[in-house]
Amino acid sequence: MRDIIKHHVFEDNDGTVQWVTNKGNKVSYSTGQTWDDLKVNKVNVPWHHVVWFPQANPKHAFIMWLAIQERLTTQDKLMKWYPLKTFQCELCGKEADSINHLFFGCEYSKAVWLEVKKLLLFRGLPTNIHAIVQKIAVFSYRNQIWDVINRITIAATVYNVWQERNSRIFKGRRRSESELVKCIVEGIKLNPTSFKIKNSVSMARAAKNWGLDLDGSRLVIKHLM
Ligand SMILES: [Zn+2]
Repeated sequence: MRDIIKHHVFEDNDGTVQWVTNKGNKVSYSTGQTWDDLKVNKVNVPWHHVVWFPQANPKHAFIMWLAIQERLTTQDKLMKWYPLKTFQCELCGKEADSINHLFFGCEYSKAVWLEVKKLLLFRGLPTNIHAIVQKIAVFSYRNQIWDVINRITIAATVYNVWQERNSRIFKGRRRSESELVKCIVEGIKLNPTSFKIKNSVSMARAAKNWGLDLDGSRLVIKHLM
């Protein structure tokens, strides 16, 4: 698995993710191409459905996938290449970033999770990427509203924290924790999707939290993902 991802994924200096196709061509990340390549390689892991599922935002899923595989170029990796350089997390400035610091240990990320969690059915704050995968993997084969919303929102949060980190490094643009939360929520609401309702009690709570609409027997998340 790691070999396949290593073979396929490159990250340019500006943090742009590039994909190397099975034919060896370096291209900008494209969902279709990625799916095709992964399908050919028969990539599968027990937590596959945590990341890849019908309602997933492919861009978010891709960064989540890389984070779980620890394939994002975080500062703990750069320290090995540049031992004399001092690295500080762009979000809190307290220590070099790593997958777990950036997404879960950082004060900035914790503040973001605290707000995002209010929109989820999720107890406690996630402490590391593997714990979160284990937690939601149990239910990720189901297609019930909260299973989907949890996965969508977690991936969107991981994606946006990564974007914020890169935006500060490469563009000098900074958003506050509350601005990022707003961006996460609005981003999720922009992409329409729908799926069958299986649990009306859960649906009612989801509808309340997210301001969703009902259309016959299907829950139309007009603006969710
Ligand atoms: Zn930090």
